[in-house]
Amino acid sequence: MNFIVTILGSGAALPTQIRMPSSQYINCNNRHFLIDCAEGTQVQLRKYKIHFQKISRIFISHLHGDHYFGLVGLLSSLNLLGREKEIHIHGPEELEEILMTQLHLGGSKLSYTIHFHALYFKEKEKIFEDDVLEVYSFPLKHKIPTCGFLIQEKTKLLKLDPIQLKKKNIRLEQYKDLQNGKDIELENGDICRYQEVTKPQIAPMSYAYCSDTKKDLKIVDFVKGSTVLYHEATFLKKEKSLAKATMHSTTQDAAEIALLSDVKCLYVGHLSSRYTSDEEHLKELQGVFENSRVAYDGLVIDLFKE
Ligand SMILES: [Zn+2]
Repeated sequence: MNFIVTILGSGAALPTQIRMPSSQYINCNNRHFLIDCAEGTQVQLRKYKIHFQKISRIFISHLHGDHYFGLVGLLSSLNLLGREKEIHIHGPEELEEILMTQLHLGGSKLSYTIHFHALYFKEKEKIFEDDVLEVYSFPLKHKIPTCGFLIQEKTKLLKLDPIQLKKKNIRLEQYKDLQNGKDIELENGDICRYQEVTKPQIAPMSYAYCSDTKKDLKIVDFVKGSTVLYHEATFLKKEKSLAKATMHSTTQDAAEIALLSDVKCLYVGHLSSRYTSDEEHLKELQGVFENSRVAYDGLVIDLFKE
């Protein structure tokens, strides 16, 4: 099992030599996703040695350019590389027209199919699930409709302990209940607790991504208890009037959301290009929520190690 997030771009709208704009690659139990796809994302994917033909779904949080201007370039490169496997794109509904117009006017005929899924910006919604994970979108408060995303592992079936099963003479048809964490009744009428015959397991992990947003307490309900929260913190708290005007968050806002959400760990990104160091960010964050870090391009977050 694995759950790894690679930060491809940790900066805000203006790319710098140190920070590219928003994009992240997620590998959750060998499901390969991209969240946001700013300018230069495909270069970052190459730089950090990510095999981008593996990506099956792309989630675009909103239509500010620093979150999707790299998408048509990436789609075009996938075509040049001979991709045949379909790809799913989740984003604001206007994105489909933007992409199709760009591809059509350039005479591109793709070798693979794009399935487009429009996001809903009113409430939290499950937008994808398979047998190991679920993906949700949830509304944020920004200048234009914007979603955050939550990737959550499903509760795994517990592993049975064959020695204990034999010892207690448990019937085959009772295995399923035990694997689902239910106690069972033995033939002699005794109750067998599932913990007695299954192996201890790590709780399911979850990763929450809060793209551009002003501080919004509703986020707390959407991301409550996540293993890792990635929240934008475009500004330091001394620039809070600027944050308010642009509907972005400060380091203090992000840390307060993390604290209220009871997450295990907070990473902040989308840092304004005005900052040349992140020392002050870290100080402000950890003053509110200790287990906070500042993301950087190329950072690999392994949720199993958080
Ligand atoms: Zn934005």
